[in-house]
Amino acid sequence: MDRVELKLEQGEVHIHLGHAEDTRWPCPECGSECGLYDHQPERSWRHLDTCQYQTILHAEPPRSNCEAHGPRVVKLPWAEAGSRFTLLFERLTIEWLKAASRKAVAQLLGLSWDEIHGIMERAVARGLARRRAEPVTYIGVDEKAFRKGHHYLTLVNDLERGCVLYVAEERKQSSLDGFWPTLTDEQRDGIQGVAMDMWDPYIASIRAHLADADSKIVFDKFHIAGHLGDAVDRVRRQENRILASEGDPRLIGTKYDWLRNPANFTRTEWDEFKALRQSKLKTARAWALKESAMGLFEFLKESQARKHFKFWYNWATHCRLESVISVAKMLKGRLPNILTYLTHRITNATSESLNAKIQWVKYTARGFRNRVNFKTAIYFHCGGLDMVPSSS
Ligand SMILES: [Zn+2]
Repeated sequence: MDRVELKLEQGEVHIHLGHAEDTRWPCPECGSECGLYDHQPERSWRHLDTCQYQTILHAEPPRSNCEAHGPRVVKLPWAEAGSRFTLLFERLTIEWLKAASRKAVAQLLGLSWDEIHGIMERAVARGLARRRAEPVTYIGVDEKAFRKGHHYLTLVNDLERGCVLYVAEERKQSSLDGFWPTLTDEQRDGIQGVAMDMWDPYIASIRAHLADADSKIVFDKFHIAGHLGDAVDRVRRQENRILASEGDPRLIGTKYDWLRNPANFTRTEWDEFKALRQSKLKTARAWALKESAMGLFEFLKESQARKHFKFWYNWATHCRLESVISVAKMLKGRLPNILTYLTHRITNATSESLNAKIQWVKYTARGFRNRVNFKTAIYFHCGGLDMVPSSS
């Protein structure tokens, strides 16, 4: 250390670094110990605060004089190339960012938005580069609406580890196409199943990139429940309008009773719902069809499930409820990749903790200037990455 300068008024400590005359410098290309060629102009790095004072390191980066490689800027032990922060400061910022909003961290550490984003981007790049080629067995492809309107992101989740492997713009075939080159051949061959919505652009990408794709694509049962639920709700709305006009209030305020998974009713609620669900109402018929269709996922054997579907499809197409009939026809066309569930037993319902993190990133998305920053934040918070800089 050459000298320390206290700027009390600004609340800053400036530390000027130097080195002994006879220091030898390893060439960053080959590592051989070299003499000094010259120094670059002075640069500075924000370091951990000293008490409450912002602490700034100053140094003129030396260039080694390698016989083979010529003058090269040596690797500095306290910072990564191109960063204006020391490794310890970046590490502290990363730890804070995991626990608090970017706004809070910016205020706490006296950083600008751009500086925060720079630290996050470097952290994510570090984490993605370190992600070892671990086996990936079950993945889920999911779309997330970004802000209001029609901006979408495609997310690929590792269903077993509960982390996000890949984020891309839009929900096109090309969105998912970018994921496959991030895998090794072994990882790609090791994928047993892919949970997803019935979305043709994704199906096309999977078929183009995975061998024997049709035995691996599993349509998510919660998305299927969603389609059936929409059909029930359309029947209820129409019927409610007619009943209400005749002074019959039975369906008013019942929307969520019909959409709820029966497993989530209490005994009392289930008993209270009995008169409605066992009534002759069209809504009750649509609901019974929805629940019967979901029974498909309870079978152990595919042959039994096929038999059940045949019975169900006949019932559904004769129920005289247009919205249910159209879902029934769609499910019939998609049946092979609905039944793959019985082999793989995967859904797109990611772990609670991953969902909570994605929701949190979405919630704080108002502060993002663009989608690149949003993607970075998803990798940062949901990627399960090792992002901390390693000190050399
Ligand atoms: Zn060299």
